[in-house]
Amino acid sequence: MKRKMLAVTLASALVAGVAVSGSVEAVGEGPNYGGNETIQTSMLHTYDEMVDFLKKQDAKQDHMELEVIGQTVKGRDLYLVKYVSDESRPTVLFLTQQHGNEQLSTEGALQFIKNLGANSKANREMLGNVNILIVPMFNADGAMGDVNFPLDDYVATGRQLTRYNAVQADLNRDHVANVQPETKALHNQVLKKYHIDYMIDLHHQGTRSEVDGELVSGSILYPTNSGVDPAVVEKSKRLGSVVYHRINSKGWGHIGKYVGGSELTIGRNGIAKEYGIATLLFEMRGMSDHYYESYVLGQKSNGYLIKQSVETLTAATQAIADGSIADADISFWNRLPEQKNRPSNEEEGE
Ligand SMILES: [Zn+2]
Repeated sequence: MKRKMLAVTLASALVAGVAVSGSVEAVGEGPNYGGNETIQTSMLHTYDEMVDFLKKQDAKQDHMELEVIGQTVKGRDLYLVKYVSDESRPTVLFLTQQHGNEQLSTEGALQFIKNLGANSKANREMLGNVNILIVPMFNADGAMGDVNFPLDDYVATGRQLTRYNAVQADLNRDHVANVQPETKALHNQVLKKYHIDYMIDLHHQGTRSEVDGELVSGSILYPTNSGVDPAVVEKSKRLGSVVYHRINSKGWGHIGKYVGGSELTIGRNGIAKEYGIATLLFEMRGMSDHYYESYVLGQKSNGYLIKQSVETLTAATQAIADGSIADADISFWNRLPEQKNRPSNEEEGE
């Protein structure tokens, strides 16, 4: 029998992770790695710490269920966090860290899960009107640098994190064939099994993208493959609207339009096409580790980027739960500038 604990107790019981700071410094000009500081990854949850955290939350939270949906190449269990009260209600899926070196979105998801455990009226109302599915740290082998190829030239000291899975496959290019065990698990045990209405796929991009002359805190995009049902694209744009307006209203938020491909192998496109799920790509600024220095952001920016992830998940969930997403204005997409990269930035896709 699970027992609910007060939020204040939950906070003190949280395993050491990354603190969500209240910093409101201008994101655009936030500190970033310039080869002058050491990139420490020790403040990020390791896979084992994440699993420990999820199990503790599962034991504390009545509404939460934890399920293993499969294993990575290296045999790590892949977890699905579920808040499913009634299958007839709308369902949203949050996916983090398809690319192992993009971890702050996972840190945000863990904070969001912790927040859902607070015994508040807002949570009770929200969880009574929406089902939430979360797959955190999808590429756990890449996140732990436990891969069959060298990471010698990566920037971080200590634990290194890479985009690819253990056999150097890009999981976000495997959403049609589902060759890798990670994507197989996601498609067979989550996407095919639940009636999912919305999905946000959380990533990190480089540090030097800008719109209106200012570095962005992140970028967003809806499905762009021409085979996706136009009604699904419109629904995706509404999901983007909810997120955009929540984040851009913050002092630290500055969002651009991501310039992305139309291939179905990319989750944003393939999942929208195959399942009719409204999808949104959210790219947070700066990666946790990379061999390109310009991709890696110093840890001083962790606070607002985690906050940005938490706000994204919270805003989407609230708007789906209270139905306000149906009225979200999508005309802003016509005005949202595509982000540009400042010179000498290397290219790498979502
Ligand atoms: Zn990515």
